[in-house]
Amino acid sequence: MDTLYLDNAATTPLHPKALAAMMPFLEGKFHNPNSVYGPARAVRQAIDEARAVVASAIGARPDEIFFTGSGTEADNWALNGVMTASPEKRHVITSSVEHHGVLYTCRALEKRGYDVTYLPVDADGLVNPDDLREALRPDTALVSVIMANNEVGTIQPLTALTEITRRNNIPFHTDAIQAVGHIPVDVNALGVDMLALSAHKFGGPNGVGALYIRKGTPVSPLIYGGAQERGRRAGTENAAGIVGMAEALSLTMKEMPHENPRVSALRDKLIAQITSKIPHVKLNGHPTQRLPGNVNISFKFIEGESLLLHLDMQGCCASTGSACSSGALEPSHVLMAMGLPHAMANGAIRFSFGCGNTDADIGRLMAMLVPSVERLRAMSPLYDDYIAASI
Ligand SMILES: *Cc1c(COP(=O)(O)O)cnc(C)c1O
Repeated sequence: MDTLYLDNAATTPLHPKALAAMMPFLEGKFHNPNSVYGPARAVRQAIDEARAVVASAIGARPDEIFFTGSGTEADNWALNGVMTASPEKRHVITSSVEHHGVLYTCRALEKRGYDVTYLPVDADGLVNPDDLREALRPDTALVSVIMANNEVGTIQPLTALTEITRRNNIPFHTDAIQAVGHIPVDVNALGVDMLALSAHKFGGPNGVGALYIRKGTPVSPLIYGGAQERGRRAGTENAAGIVGMAEALSLTMKEMPHENPRVSALRDKLIAQITSKIPHVKLNGHPTQRLPGNVNISFKFIEGESLLLHLDMQGCCASTGSACSSGALEPSHVLMAMGLPHAMANGAIRFSFGCGNTDADIGRLMAMLVPSVERLRAMSPLYDDYIAASI
């Protein structure tokens, strides 16, 4: 039996056409794009074309795109780069529902003596623009708020936030890694100054991403060395990865007009089935302002981790949403920030659909999910207490 892959928010399978586009650069076209002979110029040209593709997908100019070694790297660079470039400013504002790539960079900045304000979110995971307005200080160097949350799928209306930072001349970074390739993203319509994206979240290879930096934004180089990425991120370019990312992005942009509604329909159907067939569940994240592929559900009385193991044994790949780095069962910081009780946060599972999923996957999942939840609840002391109390 094939595995049932419902973890596209963690990573997506490499698109065969992206692989095909990469292969020449792993074989014959190995030349260093910085060298001054014909074959090297061909590699350079491929990188330039990829830069133009990535730029046009987000409404940017090619010279505002800087390739990186991952989405996490782009997030780290945005934050550290602005703080280093503005030494007189000591304050960063972010949200309490960031990916660890931003959250832990902020924690590291705090250790180095910077002040960080973590904006609260409401029960759906949205930041209130008034909270941002109140958090601004004369020494605020940067605001960074995630565009679409990787755990719960909530899409933040960024323009309400960037209106405020623009008026105050403060650079705004967004982690748009879950958004790019899945929902329309335009840096000018959003009003952002920096934006991180990552290839493996839209059918490209792992280990390549990009940071958009609006011209004029003060950002220090990430890596010193050669003149690559206009001297701001030195190191010989990952030509195959960059070309693969551009190919995947151009395919996904072409497919978005029909994939977005198709995947959204799978999402809505799964939410409807779970909430109608399984009692004591809660949908996490915004009910409508959410990523097309994201379903995050808390199953009361059970541990999400236990449910994941049950599903894994039946060949289904899903996630609790937050990678559990410590090995301890810590509840997700995102769900806690949204005000979920501990027990509900620990009972959360994320299913994320991608272009490889079909309607048949919902039936397959439900056939595993319903008995697994029943079995785990039958063993749950919390559920026993609940039943005893209701008799
Ligand atoms: C996956 C992800 C990242 C990390 O990207 P990598 O390329 O895996 O480093 C950062 N932020 C969000 C929202 C993500 O979903």
